[in-house]
Amino acid sequence: MTTSAPAPQALPFLPFALPEIGEEEIAEVVDTLRSGWVTTGPKAKRFEQAFAEFLGEPQIECVAVNSATAGLHLALEALGIGPGDEVITTTHTFTATAEVVRYLGADVKLVDIDPATLNIDLAQIEAAITPRTRCIIPVHYAGLAVDMLALLDIARKHGLKVVEDAAHALPTTIEKELIGTLGSNATVFSFYANKTMTTGEGGMLVTRDAELARRARVMRLHGINRDAFDRFTAKVPSWYYEIVAPGFKYNLTDIAAALGLHQLKRLSAFQVRREHIAEAYLEAFADLPLILPPQAPEGDTHSWHLFVLRLADEAPVSRDQFIEAMFARGIGCSVHYVPLHQHPYWRERYGLTAEMFPHSQKAYERTVSIPLYTAMTDADVQRVIAAVRASLGVA
Ligand SMILES: *Cc1c(COP(=O)(O)O)cnc(C)c1O
Repeated sequence: MTTSAPAPQALPFLPFALPEIGEEEIAEVVDTLRSGWVTTGPKAKRFEQAFAEFLGEPQIECVAVNSATAGLHLALEALGIGPGDEVITTTHTFTATAEVVRYLGADVKLVDIDPATLNIDLAQIEAAITPRTRCIIPVHYAGLAVDMLALLDIARKHGLKVVEDAAHALPTTIEKELIGTLGSNATVFSFYANKTMTTGEGGMLVTRDAELARRARVMRLHGINRDAFDRFTAKVPSWYYEIVAPGFKYNLTDIAAALGLHQLKRLSAFQVRREHIAEAYLEAFADLPLILPPQAPEGDTHSWHLFVLRLADEAPVSRDQFIEAMFARGIGCSVHYVPLHQHPYWRERYGLTAEMFPHSQKAYERTVSIPLYTAMTDADVQRVIAAVRASLGVA
């Protein structure tokens, strides 16, 4: 018999992100499967209504779609964006924000970020406006709102449309107003697996513009116009429909909406948990050679979709070394984002160089996103904190 202690059990790998799916979500999906109605139907409709109520505006138009990318595409299509037009957005985003502009044959004008918030720099927007500019797509990076009042002022002054990429911003407020209820033309949320709530894949286009919503509803399902039925009322047989445009296949299934109905009910509690974890990180990292993410102004809500650290110039390791050291301690990290100007497609199409985007480039070289999600236990949070400290050579 040996007296030595057993070797410590290696902790399981802590992934960068995980969804939190409860028994209610599972039961609702099973109910959908048993109902015989698995594609878009009553639950997708209920989810749209519940989403409007969550935004505190039961009359706002909510159009459920199978991704945020689809929602962004539909919003721009409904606004008539097309060849010859330019749309301004941030280089510091996911390619989906910009690719939808190219789907429509319009051109993307990428601009640099504000180094304090990593959100699109409003002065750079103004400098990028040309006679061809039609629209601005702000991204509420990590879940911290862009200064929308100032951005909407710029848009009004120049007669531009605004479509918010709110993939990170649920729920986020600015001046106490929820993103989705501001004065932009449309706002698009994502329910991708790693977002603040998930339907597996899914998104929601939100607008107060009834005409935009009507067009998006037609185009989300093959260009089928259901309003045509109204003209004939009861005389139209149930099998009849009219195609008014070459639409897309962007509808959200009831299986996905079943998840969404219950995720939405938990969203406020999810946000509180995320904020709690973010506060623990901010406190634990205050003495480290890091630039910590900015918090929302007093009284406003940060969704804390991402917790993005920036290694300070005096940090003893590079970003890549830091990520490797975290990985060696069993912690998954990510980088948000490899900026668009670095990717071959965007770089070559528009002749972009890193020098054109100094703040985004510097952020890219120094940022790392660490795990922050509701399925983390307090012990997981402490483990991440210890790993960050150790990876920076601090006990
Ligand atoms: C996730 C994400 C998207 C795309 O969302 P999907 O629902 O996957 O299409 C768009 N923009 C940003 C900033 C994102 O993070």
